[in-house]
Amino acid sequence: MTRRTLIGATTLLIIAILGIVSYLLIREYRNTEEDAKRSALNIMQLINRDIHNTFSLYDSALFSVIEILQSQDLSTLPSQTWQSLLFDRSNEAPSTAGFFVVDAQGKLITHSQPSGRAPENASQQPWFSAHQNTTNNELYISHPYRTNAETDEWIIILSRRISTPDGAFAGVAVGQLKASYFHKLFRGLDIGPNSNISLISTDGTLMMQYPLTSKVTIGQDLSNAPNFIRFLKERYGSYVAMSAIYHHERLFSFAQIQGLPIIVVVAISASSIFNNWQHTALLIGSVTLLLCLGMLWLTWLLIRELNLRQHAERDLAALASTDPLTGLANRRTLDRVLDLEWRRAQRSGKPLSLVMIDIDLFKSFNDDYGHQAGDEAIRKVAHVIKAHVRRPADLTARYGGEEFAVVLTETEAAGARLLCEKIRLAVEQMPPILPDHKKLTISLGSCTRYAKTGETQEALLSAADKALYRAKKAGRNRVVNINETGLNALNNKPVC
Ligand code: GH3
Ligand code: MG
Ligand code: MG
Repeated sequence: MTRRTLIGATTLLIIAILGIVSYLLIREYRNTEEDAKRSALNIMQLINRDIHNTFSLYDSALFSVIEILQSQDLSTLPSQTWQSLLFDRSNEAPSTAGFFVVDAQGKLITHSQPSGRAPENASQQPWFSAHQNTTNNELYISHPYRTNAETDEWIIILSRRISTPDGAFAGVAVGQLKASYFHKLFRGLDIGPNSNISLISTDGTLMMQYPLTSKVTIGQDLSNAPNFIRFLKERYGSYVAMSAIYHHERLFSFAQIQGLPIIVVVAISASSIFNNWQHTALLIGSVTLLLCLGMLWLTWLLIRELNLRQHAERDLAALASTDPLTGLANRRTLDRVLDLEWRRAQRSGKPLSLVMIDIDLFKSFNDDYGHQAGDEAIRKVAHVIKAHVRRPADLTARYGGEEFAVVLTETEAAGARLLCEKIRLAVEQMPPILPDHKKLTISLGSCTRYAKTGETQEALLSAADKALYRAKKAGRNRVVNINETGLNALNNKPVC
């Protein structure tokens, strides 16, 4: 496996893991959000239904009062009797602070609870003016109010106009709903920390909030709050947004109560909804990160091992192909390259030259100066030969002992001979290994051939060897060249 494949595979795997984990976390986030929306909408429906029922009870009690007032002559009955007849239905209305009736001048006629808070004169009350100035018979719902901030609790007025048979204003029937009703209703619902339930009238007045905090006041005008504008526009829905009052993200679920100008808003703190998800995401995210880092680390280890192995293989290959004393190619490499170049020469039809070199009288050099000096001499001669063979395709090898071979590709006999002469001269001119040593010389046998099919490189090798032998025989320190193209090849005589 190559390094690139390994890095590619690891990268793909990490991308796949990150992709899957991200997908699962996003799906889990959406599910959490959906669950929270569903339960908030359920809570809201519950509130909606309860408030709708309560207001309906108040309304039917008011209807009953008006009906009795319009249909019966109560003056003939004792006051105790007609009072209980009039407010019979009002007993069904929960959390009431009492029902009462005022006449066309706002004067209190009767009330359900003697200890109740009915004004003696209601002509200045907003609900009275609202009915007096209009002929429609709609249910009037007031903003919450309290006469005395210290002692009184918040009350909401629900009232209806009493009309004479010809439609003239005859007074107002009033029911008073205590705000504690809402608190009792909301208290039983678990909405979590930093969350609240609000009732907002469609004109933007905050009617109730549970739990009530110091950041808001009952009766506060919210008509310009961006969230209220959205509630009013959409009437029903659920979304996550920033709270302009509490300055943190909340899930707002809202709906207008059926038939009433009141919007119920359940606002649940986003952090409490996503708390569990955040913990899970942190845990899974950390584990995934560790996993990815682990994979990267393993990949790095593997790549390092691969590099080490490659270097070791390269070193081994170099060791197997190089002669340790001279650093030249060894005999094995020479055989391989010669075989390769011979076949290449067969294909290309170009000449191939081989030069065999032997140090003259080296045995006596060894005997005179010792093997160490002999080794140094072999190294120096090798260096001189190598310095003359510069073309990348050529090869200088140690053939064995104090013998060397040079493969010259696409080289004619003349070129080979010229190079041989240069090498011979360079060795001759080489300074002695030590000042008192004898000078060294070499003999060179070279052969240039056009490789023919059916022949092997052995022919070239033995011809070069033969040339070297002739050079030795002819007196050493010389070059003998055998080539097949010249006359010498025909009459089998060396060119030297
Ligand atoms: P000639 O001119 O005919 O080649 O004479 P020569 O003495 O060189 O004869 P020959 O080539 O047969 O001698 C080879 C000698 O080279 C034998 C051995 O002592 C020496 N020799 C071979 N390999 C090494 C080596 O690795 N190191 C050393 N120091 N000497 C070597
Ligand atoms: Mg020899
Ligand atoms: Mg020799």
